[in-house]
Amino acid sequence: MLFSSTSTANGDCGRASIILASKDKHQVRVHSLRTNALGDVFVRVFQFEDEFSHTHPVVALTVGNNFDRMVPLVRVHSRCLYGEVFGSLDCDCLPQLQLTWQAFIHEKSGILIYLEQEGRGCGLISKATAYEMRQEEGLDTVEAYRRLGLPLDARQYSTAAVILKELGLDNVRLLTNNPAKISGLVAAGIGVQPVHLRSEPTKWNHDYLVVKQVKLGHDLGFGADQSSGQWEDWRGRGGPWKDPRNVVVRPREQFEGDWRGLGGIPQ
Ligand SMILES: [Zn+2]
Repeated sequence: MLFSSTSTANGDCGRASIILASKDKHQVRVHSLRTNALGDVFVRVFQFEDEFSHTHPVVALTVGNNFDRMVPLVRVHSRCLYGEVFGSLDCDCLPQLQLTWQAFIHEKSGILIYLEQEGRGCGLISKATAYEMRQEEGLDTVEAYRRLGLPLDARQYSTAAVILKELGLDNVRLLTNNPAKISGLVAAGIGVQPVHLRSEPTKWNHDYLVVKQVKLGHDLGFGADQSSGQWEDWRGRGGPWKDPRNVVVRPREQFEGDWRGLGGIPQ
């Protein structure tokens, strides 16, 4: 089986595209792990025979084991050092991860695939440069990436699709607001039913989130009043969620709509 990049329109920051060959081209290490929030989980560390993944193995964390009886909740998450480690309030990466944990706890199952795609796939130095331009010149993240000549989003999801298939899954409920993530997995043969992650905007990340919705097409639930009218244009085209080419919806009983949080992690 051969998978190549699914984000042909976005480029790859000059990095070699991920080309994954047959299953014997990667190795997997599996072990259990005791965690604070999720209890006992399984961790699978994949190392693929390509330049990118050799440096940055891909991790799949699984909670529960009832994936044969229900379409699992899946989060495909790209690394964000600032949010996840430093607790940055300027983005919504940590809240999305926390909502993912809450969803997994609620269902007692779920799968997180963690991809080393910092800075929307362009690396930490690009991300830091964009932050610098934002603070010194007032550019938003999209304007900064354009000025730098970088693709607005170079992340790829074919690796995640390979891992899902290795786990025996070809149909998932995907915790995401990002249509590119959906179309990337669908293009790689995974059926996707999107489940939005709805974190409350803060005064620090509000403008960033509006840019994310208006300029990058993420569905963050902002209304027209909060996105200076451009949201109406986007919605007028039907939006990526309503485009059957982007979304493969398989009806499932347990679909419960958007995740808005459960008021704290249940004990
Ligand atoms: Zn972040």
